[in-house]
Amino acid sequence: MIVVLKQGTQDEKQSQLIDWFKDMGLGVHISTGAYQTVLGLIGDTTKVDTDLIESLDIVESVKRVTETFKCCNRKFHPDDTIISVGDVKIGGGNFALIAGPCSVENEEQIVYVAKAVKEAGANLLRGGAFKPRTSPYDFQGLKGEGIELLKIARKETGLPIVTEIMSVSDLPLFEDIDVLQVGARNMQNFDLLKELGRTGKPILLKRGLANTLKELLMSAEYIMASGNENVILCERGIRTYSDYLRNTLDLAAVPMLHELSHLPVIVDPSHATGIARMVSPMAMAATACGCDGLIIEVHNDPPHALCDGAQSLRPEEYAELVRKVEAIRGVI
Ligand code: PEP
Ligand code: MN
Repeated sequence: MIVVLKQGTQDEKQSQLIDWFKDMGLGVHISTGAYQTVLGLIGDTTKVDTDLIESLDIVESVKRVTETFKCCNRKFHPDDTIISVGDVKIGGGNFALIAGPCSVENEEQIVYVAKAVKEAGANLLRGGAFKPRTSPYDFQGLKGEGIELLKIARKETGLPIVTEIMSVSDLPLFEDIDVLQVGARNMQNFDLLKELGRTGKPILLKRGLANTLKELLMSAEYIMASGNENVILCERGIRTYSDYLRNTLDLAAVPMLHELSHLPVIVDPSHATGIARMVSPMAMAATACGCDGLIIEVHNDPPHALCDGAQSLRPEEYAELVRKVEAIRGVI
């Protein structure tokens, strides 16, 4: 349920109302916007008398929120959420350019790519240390050593780092990581989501291979309900009937998620297509439909990459893509 307060409501009266809701056993999510304050009530609101609340002199309107996702619901928080990662802001008109290799392979590689993507305009560095591979015989990532190499690349470039966490038990290794990525295969690892909710760290939550938008939002809700509002949603392609492409990039998800939720929405055209030459056109399309950022795989030597070489751009190709994306952003 949401309760919209009248403009100019005194803080004291607002606090009294909030305390009253809390006494009823409800959680209260407060969104203070430029023009209005919205109270989002969480919990069993079936016994709340909406007519009584609507009759209060400080209340503008009361509405029941029928969706099962509450904290991430746009109705609870009408303004776009802006997530801060150091000096970088994501959402609400702030565009994230996240780039780097699929996997961290060695110090020379990650530092080289970090410098190259920074030069091209990226504002965050990606790189997998823990890799969710389909085959147990494929490269599984450098794990703790990969995390340390990412920190070296951050020191060399100043770029905040984004890397995937696969298991709750690895959490201590991620203490000094700027953005924790939940990969597509872990989107519904609810224990992991709850634990990440307790960290307060920015979480990049990827849509699962065969998950609906509602399921993605419910996973964001798990993180937020545990106390962490810093969630970035990521559309990375889903399984359909695609034969020549790795996945199907569901771009309509971007405006739909923006309608449903206040959280930033970024797009990953690398995993969505699986083919390097498809990345630039889909990155441009994603930008045109209003995404809040792009996460793109870039490798110094794609044919010899230990993971996802076929979809990785070379640094100069990434630089060209950034120029096109900036041009599109200028138009929209
Ligand atoms: C990745 O970002 O390297 C990755 C494994 O992504 P996804 O979870 O979207 O497949
Ligand atoms: Mn990858």
